[in-house]
Amino acid sequence: METRSDELLAAAREAAGRAYAPYSRFTVGAALLGADGRIYVGCNVENASYGLSLCAERNALFHAVACGCRAFRALALAAPEPTVPCGACRQALAEFCDGGLPIALGSLDPAAPVGRTTLGALFPAPFALGAVRDGGRG
Ligand SMILES: [Zn+2]
Repeated sequence: METRSDELLAAAREAAGRAYAPYSRFTVGAALLGADGRIYVGCNVENASYGLSLCAERNALFHAVACGCRAFRALALAAPEPTVPCGACRQALAEFCDGGLPIALGSLDPAAPVGRTTLGALFPAPFALGAVRDGGRG
């Protein structure tokens, strides 16, 4: 499957540059390749009330859903150092993506090595409510 990894990583790095992270200073960008061929980006957006902050991955995912895309081919992340999605984002991704989703873990430096994994490797047993979940996919 074509995952357009380099293009996704570049989009994730660009999105990381728009992150709002005055508290952690850890700027993250995410880029999801939709089944529609479009790239949906997100960045982390923090808040003075820390619990309201949103990760780049969920920002990208929710952006895509709001644009009408609910199926995905690949995800790329860019951060000051390569990092994996947090548990909350893994669960959110599992709502719309199967375990085979390729995930590229990049840094903000395009010349640095890129890690490769899948959603299933990071999150083998997502919570699901069977009929409710399937019915919710519309
Ligand atoms: Zn997260």
